[in-house]
Amino acid sequence: MLLPVCCKGAPRFIRANSRRAMGEGIPRVVIVGGGFGGLAAAKALRKAPAQIILIDRTNHHLFQPLLYQVATSVLSPAQIGSPIRGILRDQGNVIVILGEVTGVDKEQKCVLARSADREGVPIAYDYLILATGGRHSYFGHDEFEKFAPGLKSLADAVAIRNRVLHAFEQAEAEEDPSHHRDLLTFVLVGAGPTGVEMAGAIADLVRNTLRSEFRRIDPAAARIVLVDLGNRVLSSFSEDLSKAAKQRLEKLGVEVRLGHGVDEIDEDGVIVAGERILSKTVIWTAGVAPSPAGKWLNVGTDRAGRVRVQKDLTVPGHPEIFVVGDTASLDQDGKPLPGVAQVAIQQGRYAGRLIQRYVTSKTSPGPFRYFDKGNMAVVGKGFAVLQSGKLHVKGFLAWLAWAAVHLQFLAQSNLRVSVFLQWVWSYLTGQRGSRLIVNHHGSEGRRAMADAPHRTMVSSK
Ligand SMILES: Cc1cc2nc3c(=O)[nH]c(=O)nc-3n(C[C@H](O)[C@H](O)[C@H](O)COP(=O)(O)OP(=O)(O)OC[C@H]3O[C@@H](n4cnc5c(N)ncnc54)[C@H](O)[C@@H]3O)c2cc1C
Repeated sequence: MLLPVCCKGAPRFIRANSRRAMGEGIPRVVIVGGGFGGLAAAKALRKAPAQIILIDRTNHHLFQPLLYQVATSVLSPAQIGSPIRGILRDQGNVIVILGEVTGVDKEQKCVLARSADREGVPIAYDYLILATGGRHSYFGHDEFEKFAPGLKSLADAVAIRNRVLHAFEQAEAEEDPSHHRDLLTFVLVGAGPTGVEMAGAIADLVRNTLRSEFRRIDPAAARIVLVDLGNRVLSSFSEDLSKAAKQRLEKLGVEVRLGHGVDEIDEDGVIVAGERILSKTVIWTAGVAPSPAGKWLNVGTDRAGRVRVQKDLTVPGHPEIFVVGDTASLDQDGKPLPGVAQVAIQQGRYAGRLIQRYVTSKTSPGPFRYFDKGNMAVVGKGFAVLQSGKLHVKGFLAWLAWAAVHLQFLAQSNLRVSVFLQWVWSYLTGQRGSRLIVNHHGSEGRRAMADAPHRTMVSSK
């Protein structure tokens, strides 16, 4: 049951000893979201004389930049997620609540939350930080989602891993080679970092890991197609690095098709520039839409729906409400800040520190300013591109830097050790960490078979 903490003026139904635990009499900061922004805010408030309630609809902080490695079997889900409660266990002023926020009452100063057994539980705040991240955007084509899942949560990554691995199993069991082509064609829609990293990782999977394990099919003959409406892959990088990434993908056997978006996605595959590409595995790596925080607050948003925040990350007219990370929109030097982890971390930290100053009656540190440490993306085994200011690096050195930075930002030290060892092992042997087809609902295998009623399985001879 969600711990109820009512709005001011509403009847209280929280137990007296819980009230003490909630630290009544000192300001209360409610943080919604235990992702990069929310967690950074909570940590920045560790010495604040305040009670902090962090609400998340999952019990774990997820390291999204490595989701593609779960989707392509390099890592297991537990290696990129950490229980939020565990991360904050030494921070006595934080209470972690598993629940989903469904609205904000700005006048009553409370958020409304839902848990397993309750709806609309009001949780009062003196300060509110919304760090609810984003979700997939199909750019108005929500019907694509059924055929082209996106990658945002651990469940998404495991579902994609199941699909990719299933495709090879089905092809191996399939007697009619004419069906192999669509089973072994993987289409990725969106050539940003996620699409490029996924394409490179699938190419590695088929060429290095699966190659020697199948008898009736050649996994290395799999077709991997990366589609994007734009004219370059990794368009947020400089032209030279985006060119290097494209060349590397092509060397790995990835077909890069730029300049046309997908016109259609259905159960048979995709249509790109009028051409049908038959595929049983289409993955959406294109758009991100913010959480509905803008609707909850009923404030101005940008075209994508992100809440327009002021220079101190608060919303106009409400100096007690902060919005940070992927769900906030802020321009710096005339350009909108990107939806990346560093922006969310720096904004969360800033909001936490600012609130700490308010509650200790210190002056404001001045407006938020993002410090861009640079961008990185991996393109297959041992190759990355790195851009930091005027520094542009590609190849193995950039990959080492990528690995070091990602290890450093994993939430817990046990994960750093485990991921490091897995990477070394995979690099040296080509073997992957988690190649299980796991169906938590018990019907994946049956569904996959049902999807292919016309197909002949391995004959009994
Ligand atoms: C596949 C993928 C790869 C990426 N790769 C990179 C990369 O290489 N480098 C990089 O810098 N960035 C990368 N990003 C972007 C980066 O992960 C995001 O910019 C960052 O996570 C944003 O942080 P956030 O705190 O705003 O949101 P998130 O980290 O998404 O956290 C939001 C949290 O809010 C919770 N939440 C949402 N709604 C509710 C609700 N209603 N009630 C309660 N809780 C809620 C969620 O469960 C989640 O824990 C990637 C993103 C994806 C999806």
